[in-house]
Amino acid sequence: MVFNILVLGSGAATPTLNRHCSAQIINICGVRILVDCGESTQNQMRQYHQKIQSIKTVFISHLHGDHFFGLPGLLSTMHLCGRKEALTVYAPTGAREAIELLFKVSATNIDYELNIVDIDVDEPAIIHQGKGFHVTAFPLHHSTPTYGFVFEEETPLLNLRPNVRERYGMTNDDCISVKQGNDLLLADGTVVPNVELTLPRRLPRRYAYCCDTAFDETLIPIVAGSNLLCMESTFDNAFSTMAEERCHCTASQAATIALRAGVGQLLLTHFSARYRETEVLLDEARAVFPQTLCAIDGGKYEISYKYEKQ
Ligand SMILES: [Zn+2]
Ligand SMILES: [Zn+2]
Repeated sequence: MVFNILVLGSGAATPTLNRHCSAQIINICGVRILVDCGESTQNQMRQYHQKIQSIKTVFISHLHGDHFFGLPGLLSTMHLCGRKEALTVYAPTGAREAIELLFKVSATNIDYELNIVDIDVDEPAIIHQGKGFHVTAFPLHHSTPTYGFVFEEETPLLNLRPNVRERYGMTNDDCISVKQGNDLLLADGTVVPNVELTLPRRLPRRYAYCCDTAFDETLIPIVAGSNLLCMESTFDNAFSTMAEERCHCTASQAATIALRAGVGQLLLTHFSARYRETEVLLDEARAVFPQTLCAIDGGKYEISYKYEKQ
């Protein structure tokens, strides 16, 4: 099953010719999710051949313009293009009021059901249950209420080894039980251990998104074990004071979170417009955590399967 991230915007507050404001499309369990919606997101979707109506759910990390100002326009375009399917937007408190006011003063009416759900959590909590996956929101340390998200597959059932069903005369109920991880009890009282009946377990994949945030060690257990961590990296170490004052991270701070959380890979994003090239940020991060990439607009990042060792 495909699980990938398409970065539509990897820039910080001010868009540049090469980097648009924050937005990503997550493709998980056959569902497309939009995460953040900075200015120009709908243009970027067209640029990278993403169907606007394919978006089922939207998550907004916070209401700073570089993460939110693209949403009213996108919602309006969805209507103009004939959307009938309901859309759910998870966003911090205030998004509904802002959109309703904009729609009122601009005489914008939409024909589809728009559900704007306030995110208001003090600690990690599942806020969305999809088919085969769930989404956890958690607070970040920023200058306005801001949330990070973990997108995680449900634990998949085990697969049977070839021919075990016939060898042990397993019923359908036996198969379900063994796929759930139980041992098999035979009619003569013999117990066949689950490990002899099933293939190595495919581990559920996790993608964590933290943008925007200051360096915060409390994030480490929340994003621990993620296959991919996308973390803001607005500045390099030369601007560490500015990063602290503005509640942002440096590249090495993002890498420190990745290292201590034991993630598989780190994807840096949300680069200040002062960086025409991101080598300085990449070098800084890789000195701490070598498995680091810098996001580019239009970049697609696959999350591959991993299996439990037996
Ligand atoms: Zn931002
Ligand atoms: Zn911000």
